[in-house]
Amino acid sequence: MKTAVADLNFELLIPYDRLEARIKELAHEISTDFKGRNPVVAGILTGSFLFVADMVKNLEIPVEVTFTKLASYFGGTSSTRRIRDDFDLTIDVKGRDIILVEDIVDTGNTLHYLIDKLKVREPASITVCTLLLKPEAIEISIEELKYVGFQIPNEFVVGYGLDYKEQGRGLMGIYRKVNN
Ligand code: 5GP
Ligand code: MG
Ligand code: MG
Repeated sequence: MKTAVADLNFELLIPYDRLEARIKELAHEISTDFKGRNPVVAGILTGSFLFVADMVKNLEIPVEVTFTKLASYFGGTSSTRRIRDDFDLTIDVKGRDIILVEDIVDTGNTLHYLIDKLKVREPASITVCTLLLKPEAIEISIEELKYVGFQIPNEFVVGYGLDYKEQGRGLMGIYRKVNN
């Protein structure tokens, strides 16, 4: 299935039913691992908003939900490695278990920046859950990365929260860029 987003063409890589099934598995794993705790689920906007929503609906433990907003792509199809810090978490995370929820881990620069910033606040733990991971693109390994939905090839993707030029976030599936 092909679709145009702004001036590029994309084709379906992961349909929504597969995302949904995998998110249920991840939610169950996280619920088991954090049983008896009350973690802070911190979504990294904008790309993670649908993933956080579907994740939280399936968790079997009490959690607090909050967001921070960072940006690094700025309308292109590859990371600029510059991070713009748009807004911070509003919850005091001292002594708390933080689960960072990301749409996609690419170079690892964004998470490296955010984890360094949060460690200073002395949380009890920091764990990362990402829907997508591009193993071939990683430049900084993230030791806190524990939950991964899907490993994907090193290609630009949109849909299910992820954008190209701020378009395509509502697509119900992950789509990859095609070369034509
Ligand atoms: P990193 O800092 O790991 O290189 O990149 C992290 C951020 O860049 C992600 O959270 C996401 O917002 C954006 N990003 C990385 N790869 C892609 C991609 O293939 N498509 C889109 N739309 N955004 C991406
Ligand atoms: Mg992101
Ligand atoms: Mg973006």
